[in-house]
Amino acid sequence: MNENERIKQEKNPLDVWEDLVRYSKSGFESIDPDDFLRMRWYGLYQQKPNDGHFMLRIKVPSGDLSTEQLRTVADVTRLYARGITDITTRQNFQFHWLTIQDVPDILNRFAQVGISASGACGDIPRNVTGCPVAGIDPNEVFDARPEAEIIHQMFLDNREYSDLPRKFKTTVAGCGQHCSQPEINDIGATAVRRIRANGEVEEGFQIRVGGGLSARPFFAKRLNMFVPKDRLPSVFHAIVTIFRDHGNRENRKAARLKFLVNEWGIERFEEEVRSRLDWRPDFADDWPEPRKNFRDHVGIHAQKQEGLSWIGATVLSGRLNDSQVYEAARIADEFGGGNIRTTNQQNLIFPDIPNARVEAAAKALEAAGLQVNVSPIRRAAVACTGNEFCNLALTETKRLIVEIVEHVEGAVAINEPIRINLNGCPNSCGQHHIGDIGLQGCLVKQGPGKPPVDGYDISLGGRLGADSKFVRPIRRKVPATEVKHAIANLLNGYVEQREDEDDFADF
Ligand code: SF4
Repeated sequence: MNENERIKQEKNPLDVWEDLVRYSKSGFESIDPDDFLRMRWYGLYQQKPNDGHFMLRIKVPSGDLSTEQLRTVADVTRLYARGITDITTRQNFQFHWLTIQDVPDILNRFAQVGISASGACGDIPRNVTGCPVAGIDPNEVFDARPEAEIIHQMFLDNREYSDLPRKFKTTVAGCGQHCSQPEINDIGATAVRRIRANGEVEEGFQIRVGGGLSARPFFAKRLNMFVPKDRLPSVFHAIVTIFRDHGNRENRKAARLKFLVNEWGIERFEEEVRSRLDWRPDFADDWPEPRKNFRDHVGIHAQKQEGLSWIGATVLSGRLNDSQVYEAARIADEFGGGNIRTTNQQNLIFPDIPNARVEAAAKALEAAGLQVNVSPIRRAAVACTGNEFCNLALTETKRLIVEIVEHVEGAVAINEPIRINLNGCPNSCGQHHIGDIGLQGCLVKQGPGKPPVDGYDISLGGRLGADSKFVRPIRRKVPATEVKHAIANLLNGYVEQREDEDDFADF
């Protein structure tokens, strides 16, 4: 049994809440070292350099939140987090610089507006992600937020699922473009329709299992079943409990569901899922895979609701200051319907804006530094937390992605969206395996007597959907200061050589 398993067995991490309240009075020094691990179940990590500060992650199911909730995000950012918050690639918000004294107050503030951090980190189902334009996209199969909410509630504070071998990532989405990336989730449920024998159309889900990135990436595999909407919780329950009962608890590096699916094979895994259901799923149809590799929602787009549009605004590096968060809430109230969405590309969506007011709303967003009209490089750039706060990081990331984007925008004339995904270590929170350009942090030796410097392995050609593939490395250990030049040279070469029908992922 590994050390994490011992700590989980001695006390269920969800039971650390009362200790947390006690520590908020007795101080950081009084914290039992084992409880640092358990606190992750409430979204709390020690922040580098482990000197008394914490990072907190809160969950935003389907990336969908009200402006009242967003103002609470702004309040916490301003009052406790030194004025910054980060949008993550799982549609969450993260805060830094928190102290244990403030944690109960912060979590209570969030609870009052219906936001939870329970299950945001730890060996437990994480935030249920979804399509950030659910309910407004004219091309969606159906709005899957109700089903995502049911799954979110099923997992929340539920001890049946709170001691898994490792973290567990899920998505439930109605988007035909699969923008919530089901291919890289432990469970990816995507909306489909089928025609019944009597000619009626039935809506339901296709299920993928065992996707994930980190050091050994796997794409999820499809189960051969059609899952009606109301049966989705039973299928999620079956899959999560298979993982709970059979996942590897000896070696954390082999503990994700992807390893179990790979070891058993998808046929045996599906047999086990079916054996745990008290109903018999029909087999899947041959639903097509989306071919479009680029899945963001930035810019101004007509909604399915007549006369309304959404605006997708870019948050380069995912980092916002408190004034921007307040301003985002104000703009969503003044121009939209009091609702805002986060995306897995670390951007924001402002729905329900009357067409007549959309230009004024876009102007207000631009004035707040939330750019709407942006280059194809800027809109899709993603960066993980990096060594500013993350204990696992090798390199800095948030400043570097800004530097890279600004340089490439000035040096390359390209109108094709290019996704740059940057990580500070092999763990792939910034998803470098699936970027058009993937950057993985490393340290580069400088010769005898000199300290190593930040560097990056550069890879190319990741894509999801039909013909999905992970990146292939092209250059190792490029010093961070040279990465922007290397990318600009690469893209200029592509622009010069490409034919009309070329796609960067095939370059
Ligand atoms: Fe930290 Fe590595 Fe994840 Fe970046 S990819 S946030 S450096 S663990």
